[in-house]
Amino acid sequence: MSRFDPKIIIIGGGIMGVSTAYFLAKRGQRDVFLLERDLLAQASTGLCVGGIRQQFSHPANILLSQETIRQFRYFEKEFHTKIDFHQTGYLFLTKEHSTWETFGECVKIQRRYGVPVEVLSPEEVKHRWPYLEVENLKGGIFGPEDGYVDPYDVTMAIANKTRKMGISISERTEVTDIRLENGRIKGVETSQGFISSKIIVNAAGAWGGEIARMAGIDLPVQPYRRQVFITKAFDAIPRPVPMIIDQDTQFYIRGYAPGILMGMTDLDEPPSFHTHVDRGFMERVTAAALERVPVLEQAEILRGWGGLYAMTPDENPIIGEITGIIGFFCATGFSGHGFQHGPAVGRILSELILDGTTSFNLSPFSYDRFKKCKKTTELITV
Ligand SMILES: Cc1cc2nc3c(=O)[nH]c(=O)nc-3n(C[C@H](O)[C@H](O)[C@H](O)COP(=O)(O)OP(=O)(O)OC[C@H]3O[C@@H](n4cnc5c(N)ncnc54)[C@H](O)[C@@H]3O)c2cc1C
Repeated sequence: MSRFDPKIIIIGGGIMGVSTAYFLAKRGQRDVFLLERDLLAQASTGLCVGGIRQQFSHPANILLSQETIRQFRYFEKEFHTKIDFHQTGYLFLTKEHSTWETFGECVKIQRRYGVPVEVLSPEEVKHRWPYLEVENLKGGIFGPEDGYVDPYDVTMAIANKTRKMGISISERTEVTDIRLENGRIKGVETSQGFISSKIIVNAAGAWGGEIARMAGIDLPVQPYRRQVFITKAFDAIPRPVPMIIDQDTQFYIRGYAPGILMGMTDLDEPPSFHTHVDRGFMERVTAAALERVPVLEQAEILRGWGGLYAMTPDENPIIGEITGIIGFFCATGFSGHGFQHGPAVGRILSELILDGTTSFNLSPFSYDRFKKCKKTTELITV
């Protein structure tokens, strides 16, 4: 199908694949082919909530978010596209003593990395956001620089510029197999034919495990459905509405156009590729909503949708070249923070591919960490 044998094939046209292609092009590597089986940004990236926060416990995640926020500051200049980066903040709430203590530990780490984060009493939470029910709360932590953007706009702006820089982006092209030779990447079989290449980037999100299996690699990445609902226009909650997360129930809301967006993690749901909306779950989300934001009783659900998280056992991604196969790079398993980390990871991955090294310490995200975990966890073997 191709006029040339691309040096680098990227599988997946979400934020991760598109951003990696862009940074490769920016470094002058134009011999890149991005393959997307559907249209760009239609899977998790286009279905996500677009949230960006620096409030993580792991320094590596904080650093990735900080880099993305820096990129967003000059995004308009670089991509000639206006993105509405709403820095309306992220507010985490809990009524559990142990979670409150964990919040305190996280705040110490975050402040060490220069993250502005406020620790608020229930009264302070109530004062700022009077529509929240704060009874029994231990308090909240608020990151005023955090916020959200439209994930589709961001991804398409990057993709459009990447195309103009000469990178081939091929939609409706499915990778069906990976060919190896003596432990090295040889190329990919696709719905349009074979493409030879020595380097593949697996940026297939929740399908990252399937792609890895084509190369004989067991990548611990599982798909989990996550559902989101939006209300009709609702002005009983004054704007701006930050991203508010009830850590105990995993329920969250934020402003969404004239309505309110809400979602929740169903911790009982098994892994699957299902993305349909489940009415029963919607009722659980609204019940959690009424508990924390009683005024939402007056709101009417407009619609909902489902997308996929790509989960690893420790909810951190796998980034880098996979030991045992020369030329097989992965950037997958980002659970609920892959959109915000995509712009930074694209830059890091491009360095790793082109220079063989990167200034970012990727060891917390290495594929090999799972092997090490197994060794330390298992104490008795027969
Ligand atoms: C409801 C919801 C809310 C979320 N909220 C946030 C948030 O607020 N902030 C945040 O940072 N993250 C959030 N996330 C997570 C975020 O969406 C993902 O981590 C991120 O979009 C992953 O990007 P990606 O490019 O790795 O994957 P994707 O966007 O899923 O892209 C992978 C692409 O690979 C393609 N593909 C798969 N198999 C093949 C194949 N064989 N051949 C060719 N192409 C293939 C797919 O079609 C897909 O387009 C949310 C996710 C969901 C579902």
